[in-house]
Amino acid sequence: MFSEKLKILKEKGLLRETKDRASPQGPRIVFGEKEYINFASNDYLGLSTHPYVMNRAKAAVDEFGYGSGASRLLGGGSILHKDLEAKIAQFKGTEAALVFNSGYSANTGIIPVISDEESALFSDELNHASIVDGCRLRKAKTLIFRHKDLDHLNELLNKENVKKKIIVTDTVFSMEGDIAPVKGLFDLCKRYDALLYLDDAHGLGVIGNGGGALKHFNMKPESSIVQMGTFSKAFGSFGAFVAGSSDVIEWIMNTARSFMFSTTLPPCILAASAASLELIDKGSALIGALWTNRNQAAALLEDIGYDIMGSESPIIPLRMGTVENALRVSRHLYGRGIYAPAIRPPTVKEPRIRITVTAAHTAEDIEGLIEALKELKK
Ligand code: PMP
Repeated sequence: MFSEKLKILKEKGLLRETKDRASPQGPRIVFGEKEYINFASNDYLGLSTHPYVMNRAKAAVDEFGYGSGASRLLGGGSILHKDLEAKIAQFKGTEAALVFNSGYSANTGIIPVISDEESALFSDELNHASIVDGCRLRKAKTLIFRHKDLDHLNELLNKENVKKKIIVTDTVFSMEGDIAPVKGLFDLCKRYDALLYLDDAHGLGVIGNGGGALKHFNMKPESSIVQMGTFSKAFGSFGAFVAGSSDVIEWIMNTARSFMFSTTLPPCILAASAASLELIDKGSALIGALWTNRNQAAALLEDIGYDIMGSESPIIPLRMGTVENALRVSRHLYGRGIYAPAIRPPTVKEPRIRITVTAAHTAEDIEGLIEALKELKK
């Protein structure tokens, strides 16, 4: 049964494989015996191998051991959990914050409990899969609005007669690299007395001088905004958090199933995330380096004729038209020692190469990418 299904995937060019490194994450990685320039990682600031972050994780292993042994509600948490939550709340300017095991488990745990049968969720059509799944797990009606289209959202909000409305969006879209109109979304929230749920996975540490989407838009953390963020991207760590009013955080802690029924993260992970937060909070020079690299790469890619699909961030998609073309370009780059995977359906509707630029790339790394792509244009 499965072999037939797999055959169909293969024929459509949609069969996936894991690619496991024989080196740390970073701008240069090793697959098998060969080194590749890596344009596929979300470790935007290179913090996954930063000595300050690594040392804090090591010290926490010595102090707290490795595993956490239980869910948070059953004593699995450590004072490092509480400490990170306090620091995140302070960083985000909210009353409270709560750590989740991953961004996926945060979205699938939180979205179902901030909505109920008497509410409706309004979700951008290009939201991350974990938001889509979070919406599916709730009996609340979900309405999909066209990507970043405030007029369409307004129309849907206006038509829907329910007790509570919740608008859900990525801040920086994970496959497009463009930025949601958060201010406009919040204006609509005010008009319709709605709640705004922001997934700042790719905004945190990247936009707003590292502070994320609200900082980017010069907005305050209002009580009607629930902010989710991940430690797995610019923080170079693992896990996620939700930040908001004390009431919403306590409600989530008491009801989100992915929080309640899963063993919590090991303390060393929290220690590493706290170290990354300190570096980002200081307005690390790495954020400046990230944007220098991003702007250089985006300009050069456009110069050689690529459509970067409205990217406004270190996520730079290259439009490929077809799955075959995306695979062909990705294979060509791989042959030239560059790792930049093809992103295909069902992850996205339009096949693309997704380039992510980091602070750790050198000008030569970016040049290497451009040269290899130029060969294809010839
Ligand atoms: N939200 C967005 C927008 C993401 O891009 C991702 C990860 N790709 C997640 C949530 C899930 O986060 P995590 O990898 O920590 O599970």
